[in-house]
Amino acid sequence: MVETARTPSPTAPLAHQPVDLDEILEQARDHLQLQMLLIEVASCDDRADFALIARAYHFAKKYHEGQTRKSGHPFLHHCVEVARLLAQLRMDHTTVAAGLLHDVIEDTPATYGDVAAAFGDKIADLIDGVTKIDQLPYESREARQAETYRKMLLSMVKDIRVMLIKLVDRLHNMRTLEHMRAESRARTAHETLEVYAPLAHRFGLARIRWELEDSSLKFLEPEIYDELRNKVAMKRREREAYIEEFKAPIEEKLHENGIEAEFTGRAKNFYSIYNKMKARNKPFEEVYDLLAVRIITGSVRECYHILGLVHGIYAPIPERIKDYISTPKSNMYQSLHTSVIGPKGQYVEVQIRTAEMHHTAEIGIAAHWRYKSENEIPSDIDRHLHWLRQVIDWQQEATDPAEFMENFKIELFQDEIFVFTPKGDLHQLPTGATPIDFAFGIHTDIGLHCLAAKVNGQIVPLGTTLDSGDTVQIITSPHQKPNHSWLDAIKTTKARQAIRRWLREEQHDHSVRLGKDILERELKRYKTDGAPDLDKVAAEFGLAAAEDLHAALGSGDMSVGKVIGKIAPEKPARRGIFRRRDRRGISIQGMQDLMISFGKCCTPIPGDGIIGLITRGRGVAVHRTDCPNIGRISEDPERLLQVQWDVEGEPAFTVQLRTRSRDRKYLLSDISKALGDAGANIRSSTTATTDEIAEQTFWIDVIDIKQLRRAIAKVAKTKGVLDVQRVDEPDTADPPAAS
Ligand code: MN
Repeated sequence: MVETARTPSPTAPLAHQPVDLDEILEQARDHLQLQMLLIEVASCDDRADFALIARAYHFAKKYHEGQTRKSGHPFLHHCVEVARLLAQLRMDHTTVAAGLLHDVIEDTPATYGDVAAAFGDKIADLIDGVTKIDQLPYESREARQAETYRKMLLSMVKDIRVMLIKLVDRLHNMRTLEHMRAESRARTAHETLEVYAPLAHRFGLARIRWELEDSSLKFLEPEIYDELRNKVAMKRREREAYIEEFKAPIEEKLHENGIEAEFTGRAKNFYSIYNKMKARNKPFEEVYDLLAVRIITGSVRECYHILGLVHGIYAPIPERIKDYISTPKSNMYQSLHTSVIGPKGQYVEVQIRTAEMHHTAEIGIAAHWRYKSENEIPSDIDRHLHWLRQVIDWQQEATDPAEFMENFKIELFQDEIFVFTPKGDLHQLPTGATPIDFAFGIHTDIGLHCLAAKVNGQIVPLGTTLDSGDTVQIITSPHQKPNHSWLDAIKTTKARQAIRRWLREEQHDHSVRLGKDILERELKRYKTDGAPDLDKVAAEFGLAAAEDLHAALGSGDMSVGKVIGKIAPEKPARRGIFRRRDRRGISIQGMQDLMISFGKCCTPIPGDGIIGLITRGRGVAVHRTDCPNIGRISEDPERLLQVQWDVEGEPAFTVQLRTRSRDRKYLLSDISKALGDAGANIRSSTTATTDEIAEQTFWIDVIDIKQLRRAIAKVAKTKGVLDVQRVDEPDTADPPAAS
């Protein structure tokens, strides 16, 4: 007899089994979230590793269990949204999985090791790259933030997907920002505008950039945002009617020529309208009057063909034609731009591009993602990481977090121009860059010694602003060196850092020379047995060598009295050795018979703002109030003294001028004549000529600042002179003796 299997009794009371409706609903929500994500991934890659994504989902769910966002939603919801945004950008399954896991190291007990063990180093590195630094003790919020950005940049260079995760993370945080407290809303919105929106722009993610900008504006300036939105909506009908009229003849021509193309509207970026209103100080109506049309077609050839057709119908404004197809922007943007005069004399901006270019214009670097072998960075993306590498290069030098942030923000905001070397090599520079930037861009040594530049064959001053398409040739001289005024004539961080470093070193050398001089003079007043061992004295002050001792003296960090105290504790043998020095037109309230000397670093002349500095043993040293050294010398305010010019009998003061000119016959005699006409007496001059550039220095005697200005103006007007300036820190310590 066969035993039959036990089957449940048909009369079992189903209704009595406990049912947890909440749990069922939660499971359903769970499944739905994951399914929607997987569908999104499958829609662009049906061979993706779905199991990996599902595992990442469950890992994130387990670790974020019980956590909620400020909105009240489970934290996991944020992770899924970030992953979904990445899937919409058509990122690979590794990135989508990392998106799900992006907060587990920062916000849950999970460690790098846990993630690496479960998903491998690649995914663990991606997540580590987006994890904030907050464990280490930093001096300030600013320092910690700078360190977090540095870390993020370094991770991005290793794997650019870090940036994409960080950007969509920020995008979702901005979408849910209304749930945060007011002050953190403002802080987040500011940071988004200053760092993340420009970063999105840098890598061509226009759509994300616009949303980041507009949502920041919404929180920072809610009234302006609402006003703009309403005004844009109100103008819509009027604009649409005009565009229809504008389009009709173009569409006809396209049809005649058998070209298929699509007209599309342009996304409204409220933030850019707001910026234009602010920058031009104009009302909405004037800024927003610019009409724009976009035409998308199949091939590059058709783009140029359409451009020709449009110009045949409407008159173009020649200088507004831009070909970003043959010369793409550094963020990969490609398109033809033109502005034409449409019906009723209205300007209309037209953009023409292929569908593929359009895709890149919207999502930038993400559009260039190709599914190569697993986890390999495509080489065409690598090429575009050049900028990021440059940023990393200089960020390693910036030790001060404020300096790092300043440079970082400047780099982020710059737009670029393209210029050429005489051999035709393309160089990318920020808008507003000068030949000095170009020179430093080629090589630091060329920058440090650049004397002049030829732009399109013409010699121009170094401070000239370059334009796209210029051919630039740099003329160097071994005698040329940077000065402070260069810092005002540059745009690139590379040039700024190199010049600052050079000036710092120069300042140090200068301090060493000055300190040595101060000490030697002071020592003459004492009887000492032979030369003192300065290395030993330096060691007593905790300094490494005599050079550091000299530098400390020269910069005013240490007083000469302190040093003398160690070398020769007795009283000075002689007094007043400098009293024979000429007082040279200085009066000091209520005091007489003070030794006066003039700062060699700034050679003051009557008319300059001046300040006295009480030195030990050398009386009062008079410096210009804008002397490059005074800030460091005057750290001790008690040593400063008000002094006035009190010139009698027109004594002469010596200053140095430097000129750069196109070399020609009679140049020196013409400049000498100009100086003579201004009443300045030339004591000596030097000339160095390189290529066609003559660089000259003149030591001249003048009575006061007015005469000096007259002299400079006369020289500047002399034919061939490119620039003339008073030298802040003359080359030699002393002017040549009068003959
Ligand atoms: Mn997050």
